[in-house]
Amino acid sequence: EAKEGGKRRHAVFTPAMRDSIVRRHGLKEELARAIEQRELMVQYQPIVDIETGKTVSVEALVRWNHASRGRIPPVEFIPLAEDTGLIVPLGRYVLEEAVQSVVERSDTLLVQVNLSAIELEHPDLIPTIQDVLRRSGIAPERLVLEVTETLLVKDAERGAETLQQLRDLGVQLALDDFGTGYSSLSYLRNLPLDTLKIAREFVEGLAFSDHDAAFVRLIVGLAKTVGLKVVAEGIETRAQLDMLREIGCDLGQGYYFAAPMDVDADWHAAPASAALV
Ligand code: C2E
Ligand code: MG
Ligand code: MG
Ligand code: MG
Repeated sequence: EAKEGGKRRHAVFTPAMRDSIVRRHGLKEELARAIEQRELMVQYQPIVDIETGKTVSVEALVRWNHASRGRIPPVEFIPLAEDTGLIVPLGRYVLEEAVQSVVERSDTLLVQVNLSAIELEHPDLIPTIQDVLRRSGIAPERLVLEVTETLLVKDAERGAETLQQLRDLGVQLALDDFGTGYSSLSYLRNLPLDTLKIAREFVEGLAFSDHDAAFVRLIVGLAKTVGLKVVAEGIETRAQLDMLREIGCDLGQGYYFAAPMDVDADWHAAPASAALV
């Protein structure tokens, strides 16, 4: 014990740290059960054509509604799932569920699913995607896999190869949270991408900061120059939307249009989108 003999030599381990470790440990164990018992759910957030106000795609976002602890946010449990390898069955569940739901509801909507770096490195990924495409019958180009730049940090070459294999299956690829993390122009040059998603951080200051607006303008221009679709993430206000339209950004996502919704909600009824046209 750190306190023994009146000396507090090892008292750097605080109660708060202990609580946090205990919680993480508990959640890790419960996550395996949550996957089996289908405590996890998928919600869907519209991605809207800024010109027409129409929903063109939905992003699948996983939710954990814990029986006793309540809602646990993905930023808390996704890292735990990655640590334990549970991200693989979790990711497969989200993928199957999302593709199935979208196929049942629409003949045209795209569906975007987030892939973590661990899933991308896993040898089952390609067969899993093939299997989901075959069993659902969805046109491959309607499935958009969202990846982040972090997956390229460890082994950029291998990451790029896997992305090319995915692209060869006919699915689309989006680079998520662009502008944060390890953004590099070489990724844009070398990866087989279809879409760039501008991180919320840039969109936030858009309406009041010329500096932020300049960056969004630059990213949109860059994306268009190299033939990528571009989605602005985290649109919360009409003022942000007006700026994005002026800049020429094609697609948007955010609470201004709609928050993530349950599978049985009306994804087209993006509340504020009626005011667009
Ligand atoms: P992301 O892929 O960048 O997803 C967008 C996040 O922004 C979502 O948070 C969404 O609810 C939130 N968001 C959307 N519009 C707005 C807005 O207008 N304002 C603000 N402040 N936030 C907005 P969420 O659902 O908490 O997910 C957080 C992150 O967790 C995701 O970021 C993604 O990286 C990860 N994640 C979520 N579901 C999955 C999944 O099924 N698999 C994997 N590997 N990661 C996932
Ligand atoms: Mg995403
Ligand atoms: Mg994002
Ligand atoms: Mg993300």
